[in-house]
Amino acid sequence: MALLPIITAPDKRLEIVSTPVEAVTDEVRDQLDSMLETMYAAPGIGLAAIQVGIPKRMLVIDISRENEEKQPLFIVNPEITWVSDEDSVYEEGCLSLPEQYADVARPKEVKVRYLDRDGESRELHATGLLATCLQHEMDHLDGILFVDHLSALKRNMILRRLLKQKRLAVAG
Ligand code: ZN
Repeated sequence: MALLPIITAPDKRLEIVSTPVEAVTDEVRDQLDSMLETMYAAPGIGLAAIQVGIPKRMLVIDISRENEEKQPLFIVNPEITWVSDEDSVYEEGCLSLPEQYADVARPKEVKVRYLDRDGESRELHATGLLATCLQHEMDHLDGILFVDHLSALKRNMILRRLLKQKRLAVAG
């Protein structure tokens, strides 16, 4: 396992549509483990492979709190099979958009079919924060960021701020 550098916006790689994982091999498991370690270190509650430059349809999530037992989810080739009519709004952030937050409305509940770390097919009925987190991470697999759900005005404001941060970091 290794800590992987996280790509931050604006960056064209974050717009890539990731390709399905053909088989959950040891190499894929190593990548998932490194992604989880990277996410915990950041710290964050979700990370999609493209955020560390791997254009594959896989992600890791752990929404457990700091004082709780860890509950990592390894999700490969996820497909949404059902969404609720009702939406919920969460203030979202993203490891690729450091220190930027905004309210995003998404379906309150989703059912997702995916392969786990052993390559077994599973289905998950997610509600609350987990439902939002899953949809946020799955968006990354299609090159979509949470700011793409905002008005153009808000989106551009956040992206300009990130560009400025990057320029300052380079200058520093
Ligand atoms: Zn994100």
